[in-house]
Amino acid sequence: MEKEIIVQKFGGSSVANIERIKNVAQRVVSYKSKHTDVVVVVSALGDTTDELESLAFQLSSTPPDREMDMLLSTGEQISCALLAIAIKELGHEAISFTGRQVGIKTDKTHMKARIITIDGKRINKAFKDDKIVIVAGYQGVTSDDDITTLGRGGSDLTAVALAKALRAKVCEIYTDVDGIYTTDPRIVPDARKIKQITFDEMLEMASLGAQVMQARSIEVAKRFNIPLHVRSSFSKEEGTMIIKETEKMEEIAVRGVTCNKTEAKITICSVPDKPGIAAKIFGEISKQGINVDTIVQNVPHDRLSDISFTVPKADLNKAIKATQIIGSRIGAGEVLEDRNVARVSLVGSGMRSHSGIAARMFKTLADAQINIGMISTSEISVSCIIQQDLADKAVKSLHKAFKLEQI
Ligand code: ADP
Ligand code: ASP
Ligand code: MG
Repeated sequence: MEKEIIVQKFGGSSVANIERIKNVAQRVVSYKSKHTDVVVVVSALGDTTDELESLAFQLSSTPPDREMDMLLSTGEQISCALLAIAIKELGHEAISFTGRQVGIKTDKTHMKARIITIDGKRINKAFKDDKIVIVAGYQGVTSDDDITTLGRGGSDLTAVALAKALRAKVCEIYTDVDGIYTTDPRIVPDARKIKQITFDEMLEMASLGAQVMQARSIEVAKRFNIPLHVRSSFSKEEGTMIIKETEKMEEIAVRGVTCNKTEAKITICSVPDKPGIAAKIFGEISKQGINVDTIVQNVPHDRLSDISFTVPKADLNKAIKATQIIGSRIGAGEVLEDRNVARVSLVGSGMRSHSGIAARMFKTLADAQINIGMISTSEISVSCIIQQDLADKAVKSLHKAFKLEQI
């Protein structure tokens, strides 16, 4: 009989210290059996990645991406080795691997590389030897043998990609909450756990700031229809299933509220109002590999207008430099930056068929005396850019106004 394969991913908080690593080791060995092989993907211990990042930023405001990948990928190498040691101590066979060792080949986009192929040879060999396999999350290697990382939260992507490559029966994401909630339970303590959520809703929530899953991992899970079980590493309770939309699933207008504090706003003032200018500005920024989100252009006065847009805070310095260069080339005015912004969003696949959600959102924010700076929408979401120090208040008000604590 062919053995079943389970992929289990443990996030940074689940392996934050020695006691927790021992807890993970216990949990992992309880799943290994004659009929089941286990692949474990681990994140770096606790806040290691943030700490490594801050070391680099003490040396440079724009550290080279290649060197950042060399640095950041070390975190996961520590946790996978420690977990293998802890499992062996429990009397089980285990072996740890880096991304490179299990053949996770990526493109050359340092810090947000895409996985191209996974050659699972070493994993299959380890299974034959009846070993539990531990893989360092968040990393891969280019065809030039350079180490890459998969974007923050990228261990989720490693887990999903391995589940696909190994045709795993189950892919579990263990974290410090017991599932996906209607909003971040750290902001709203009476947020509700969601039993089932669609790939589309989760993708939207993740892209709009719900840190609990990396957006790109959901894209891959959706493409290959890999159901994900998000659950707590501290309890045995069932968590949330992220699955394909089925007809039976109730169309809920608003599934959740998200908040993203990782963006910053750039405004380029007095831009000449002529065809081709926006293409020049955003062409230059995209050449730097920076993703621009919401864009707003003001009504022109005297043939000049202001253009505001948001970028990830991590790319702000690079984006400001690029904007200043193109700004002076096209004869625009000052370039301003604002880090005190947040995006609050409502997400729900029922928005396709329910109307009035956006209007109710704007009214709720107005009643809470919160000014809206920018607005953007998709088929299943509405987002407002507001002042960051009012973000938690906005999330609480919206959660209440849409009665999400009652679902
Ligand atoms: P890990 O280290 O396991 O990858 P993360 O810190 O990346 O964990 O993600 C888990 C955190 O995501 C939770 O502690 C929670 O505060 C936050 N979070 C944000 N939005 C949500 C949500 N809608 N549901 C659950 N958790 C959320
Ligand atoms: N350690 C990396 C991060 O903090 C990857 C991950 O945890 O998934 O982003
Ligand atoms: Mg995470």
